[in-house]
Amino acid sequence: MPLLIVGSVALDTVKTPTEEHADILGGSASYASVAASFFEPPQLVAVVGDDFPERHIEYFRSRKIDLTGLQQVPGETFRWSGEYMVDMNQRQTLSVALNVFEHFNPTLPDDYRTTPYVLLGNIAPGLQARVLDQVEKPKFVVADTMDLWITVAREDLMNLLPRVDLLVLNDSEAKLLTDTPNLIKAAHLIRKMGPRYVCIKKGEHGALLLGDPSEDEFFSCPSFPVANLLDPTGAGDCFAGGLAGHLARSEQPTVTFAELRQAIVYGSVLASFNVEAFSLERLRKLRPAEIEARYAEFQRISQF
Ligand code: AMP
Repeated sequence: MPLLIVGSVALDTVKTPTEEHADILGGSASYASVAASFFEPPQLVAVVGDDFPERHIEYFRSRKIDLTGLQQVPGETFRWSGEYMVDMNQRQTLSVALNVFEHFNPTLPDDYRTTPYVLLGNIAPGLQARVLDQVEKPKFVVADTMDLWITVAREDLMNLLPRVDLLVLNDSEAKLLTDTPNLIKAAHLIRKMGPRYVCIKKGEHGALLLGDPSEDEFFSCPSFPVANLLDPTGAGDCFAGGLAGHLARSEQPTVTFAELRQAIVYGSVLASFNVEAFSLERLRKLRPAEIEARYAEFQRISQF
């Protein structure tokens, strides 16, 4: 079933202790769309400037991503730069230039308005809401966010949360949003803000999924251990994209907790591949058989 993804399409400059790459393809929607495309080629809603290289557009096309909703306007593409410390869990944002995102007014093509699955990738919650306003009765809405929006756009985020089925955020963001150090308590508090399900990512330590406690809806997912970690950028976006793509390819009339658990495992698998290279280079070479092989390996090493 169709899946719509909104978020940033960016040119990133990424520095790790050993390498630096400038103006490489990045952005929450780029990572999420390519990850999802292994399961269900999504409809992409985003904006780029006239400096955005045609080869990236060609790459999206080669993944069968629907680009009718990708606006290209005069000006510069969104740019982000970040630096990782020796412990690659630690990242510092060096700069953010919104550029064409500053005046982005997402307008959905007509055939996107009845799309059942929606992934609101990481962008300002006000923009996420504007996209959602244009979708008629979506079946399942996943939203991602970040510390910046929790701090500078909390009201917009709080207005969005009741319209979201699953909120995906990382551990420090969950603590910031709820002012609570315990992640289980934080997840329950976030559910009270609106989403039926909350997924808290813990970086290399896996993810938690919480739903209705009276139905025992609780899942603790490990992460797939990666030895050759080169660039963690976009791991969270690939997680969300893989998760949403897996949900969208299912034929089930409703999204069950069992299916969400499986989606989280697929999201983790896509994220684990993505961190093995800079930008989208690892996903560029990824074959569907490798996804299934890693899924099986993940299952084998996580059993007890
Ligand atoms: P992640 O590593 O999952 O946090 O995602 C990193 C990606 O998010 C990079 O490719 C950035 O281009 C993009 N990004 C960083 N900050 C923002 C922001 N404020 N709004 C939208 N996208 C962002």
